[in-house]
Amino acid sequence: MAGRDVTKLEKVVKEIVDDMRHMPDRGMVAAYIPELARVNPKSFGIAVIESDGNTVVGGDADVPFSIQSISKVFTLTLALGKVGNRLWARVGREPSGSPFNSIVQLEREQGIPRNPFINAGAIAVTDVILSSHLPREALGEILRFMQFLADDSSIMIDHEVAASEHRTGFRNAALANYMKSFGILDNPVDFILGVYFHHCAIAMSCRQLALAGRFLAQFGSNPSTGYAVVQPERARRINALMLTCGHYDGSGEFAYRVGLPGKSGVGGGIMAVAPGKASIAVWSPGLDAVGNSQLGQIALERLAKEMGWSIFGA
Ligand code: GLU
Repeated sequence: MAGRDVTKLEKVVKEIVDDMRHMPDRGMVAAYIPELARVNPKSFGIAVIESDGNTVVGGDADVPFSIQSISKVFTLTLALGKVGNRLWARVGREPSGSPFNSIVQLEREQGIPRNPFINAGAIAVTDVILSSHLPREALGEILRFMQFLADDSSIMIDHEVAASEHRTGFRNAALANYMKSFGILDNPVDFILGVYFHHCAIAMSCRQLALAGRFLAQFGSNPSTGYAVVQPERARRINALMLTCGHYDGSGEFAYRVGLPGKSGVGGGIMAVAPGKASIAVWSPGLDAVGNSQLGQIALERLAKEMGWSIFGA
C-alpha cells in the first residue's frame, strides 16, 4: 500500500482476519444437509462497505456460501413492499425466545408466527410474495431483487442445497401445514415451501451480501446507485427487527455483545448494519449452540468495538 496510509478500518479488518485464522473453537458446521456439512470449517470472510462506498474485505470475502436465513431480510422487504403494514396481521414482531423451527409457540399463538425471521414467519412472508404468482415467478422476483441490490447478476440459487432442504424439510412442512390449518397461508403449502427452500439456498459472498445490505445501512437508499429501495422509516423498522429477532434465540446476546442490527443464517453468514456508517457481512460456517456463526459473532463484536459502531454508543 505504498503512497497511502492504511486506514483504521483496514487495520482492524486485517487483525480480525489474522486472529480468526487461528481460533481453536470454531463451532460446529450445520450438518442437517450434506451440502452444508461438507463446507470447510476453516473458512472465514468479511466485507465492510462504508457510506462513501469505501470497501474493505478480508479472508474468503469472495467465496459464495449458502445465505439461508439471511434471505429472510430480503423477502421481508419485498413482502412489505407488496402489502405494507397489512403484513403484520399475520406475522408478529416480537423475539421468539424459542428455536427457529419451534412449533410449540405456534400452537399457543393460534398459528401467528412471532416474527418474520423464525422459519414459520418467513414461510408466511414467502406466502405473501407468492400470491398471484407462479412459484417460478416469485422465486425469480426474489433472485432479481438480490441481484439488483448487490448490482451483480451472477448471484444464483444453489439447486442442490434447495433440493436437499426440500427432501429433509419435514419440520418446515409441519410448520406450514399447521399455519395453513389456522388460515394464515393463502397458497398451496407445496408451492410456498418450494419458494422458501429456494430462497434460503441462494449463494452469495460476503462482498455481495454487504452490497445487498447497503440500503439498510443507508436509510433505505443505495448511495452508489442513488436508488431508494425503501423509505427511511421502513429501513429503520427492518433494522429494529434484525436487532431484536435476527439471531434466533441468541438475539439478546448478539445485541449485548455487538450492538448492531444483523441477521444470521445456518450457512454461517451474518449480515449486519451500522446505520449511517457501514454495511457488513461476515462468514464462518461453524455455529454456536443456537445456530449463529461462532467466529462471525466474535468478528463483529471486535469490529463494532474497535470502530465505535455499536448503536448503543462506545
Ligand atoms: N432453510 C433453513 C431451514 O428452514 C434455514 C435455516 C436458517 O438459516 O435458519 O431450516
